[in-house]
Amino acid sequence: MNAIANNLSSINQRITNAAARSNRTPDSIGLVVVTKGRSVQEMQTALTAGVTDIGENRVQEAQQKYAVVNSVVDTTAVVSTEKTCRWHLIGHLQRNKVKTALDMFSLIHSVDSLRLLAEIARRSEERAQQTDVLIQVNTTREVSKHGLDADDLLEFMENAQAYPTAHIVGLMTMGQLSPSPDANRPAFALLRSLAEKIEAQKFPGVSMQYLSMGMTNDFEVAIEEGANLIRIGRAIFGLSG
Ligand SMILES: *Cc1c(COP(=O)(O)O)cnc(C)c1O
Repeated sequence: MNAIANNLSSINQRITNAAARSNRTPDSIGLVVVTKGRSVQEMQTALTAGVTDIGENRVQEAQQKYAVVNSVVDTTAVVSTEKTCRWHLIGHLQRNKVKTALDMFSLIHSVDSLRLLAEIARRSEERAQQTDVLIQVNTTREVSKHGLDADDLLEFMENAQAYPTAHIVGLMTMGQLSPSPDANRPAFALLRSLAEKIEAQKFPGVSMQYLSMGMTNDFEVAIEEGANLIRIGRAIFGLSG
């Protein structure tokens, strides 16, 4: 087995164990394999090893890779990767990149302003589609970080009702880069409780289907706190990235 396939299989085992600790089955937890800074060849290796969801944090980088990854048809594969791989945008999105982003991404994890949501809705209407998005929350209150303040979230959700073609399907957050994964437990618990509050409001068309939280350093804690989408790069491709 190559290193990437090997790492994936150990991550899947750790997901299974963490899921069991939160009384869930591993298939209820989605793995987004983060390929920012990685080569197309590394991506192909991961896809061949069975990866179905990839995450990129910059539109331009994703665009360059998208063309190549989706043009390579592996004739030895039973199913071509083209239809089986979903692209997730996990990094900050500028409004002038929304149109391009909608060409590629199935889920945008990083909506952090009403103006961005409005632009996603406008571009979605042009294409006669709905676009699934997550709202990014700054649960650690770091000033350097993108995301809405938890205190502003309910008001945001009310205002978001004006833009139904941007279909809100959950929340996303990033923990702190801390040597101790447990340090992020309160942040992850906060995101889950925010999702429960939103759910209780029964906003029309809004679902809290996804909690996107947990990375290489802290995904097990995130799963224990209710994550059902985790985003992992370094533990799969190597810690240098
Ligand atoms: C890079 C990145 C990840 C993956 O982080 P790793 O530590 O490599 O697992 C997850 N989410 C976001 C938003 C990222 O930018």
